[in-house]
Amino acid sequence: RARAREVLSSVRDREDNRLGVEAMELLDAYGIPTPAGEIVDSPERASEVAAGIDGDVVMKIVSPDILHKSDIGGVAVGVADADAADTYEDLITRARNYQPDATILGVQLQEMVDLDDGVETIVGMNRDPQFGPLVMFGLGGIFVEVMEDTAFRVAPVSEPEARGMTEEIRSAPLLRGARGRDPVDLDAVIETIGRLSQLVTDFPAILELDVNPLVALPDADGDANVAAVDVRLTVD
Ligand code: ADP
Ligand code: MG
Repeated sequence: RARAREVLSSVRDREDNRLGVEAMELLDAYGIPTPAGEIVDSPERASEVAAGIDGDVVMKIVSPDILHKSDIGGVAVGVADADAADTYEDLITRARNYQPDATILGVQLQEMVDLDDGVETIVGMNRDPQFGPLVMFGLGGIFVEVMEDTAFRVAPVSEPEARGMTEEIRSAPLLRGARGRDPVDLDAVIETIGRLSQLVTDFPAILELDVNPLVALPDADGDANVAAVDVRLTVD
């Protein structure tokens, strides 16, 4: 919680009250699993960090002015270590082309999460003038807008309530393992909803927050079976 407070107070000094993947640490501080990674500010560092991460990496532009990174080609998936430096330059160029005066904080490198076996979900929070902090859960990625398949509860969300959220969405069968797919680790998803609910309860200054996607992975012993690969928030 002290760590989370530090991350949030560092934002206070910025002009912008929107935070992106540079706030990943906030999730770490609340025990929400995130892929290994780092934000770098040079092509050389990009190479070094990529070499230190197992397998290919994902690279993302980090800018408060670019909220939907993939819309501007700001996310490169499956980058080989040898291509990390060039990809760094590409991502910066794309961001500059999109908005010449954009504030660019760097490029984030991340370990790849296996999306073939996982299901992209979304966990978020919005403060409702009437109900207060509303925690949302649903299918992530492109499905959020298309399906409008989401469940809401007022924070703090208890474990049974979080379980209920995962059960009441129409796409719940996908999480239980449809069409020969392995079921995802629902307990890990439920725990993550609870932790995020705790975070927004502890910090009223967080006005809205979205983890999209939270990749739900099949049950595997001893592993963190969810991965928060993207986060976006607005603070007071
Ligand atoms: P944005 O939502 O701003 O476009 P994301 O960080 O959510 O950017 O990345 C876009 C998509 O790229 C994700 O929905 C996911 O499909 C894929 N992706 C992002 N990070 C990873 C990762 N670490 N491993 C595998 N796929 C990823
Ligand atoms: Mg996203």
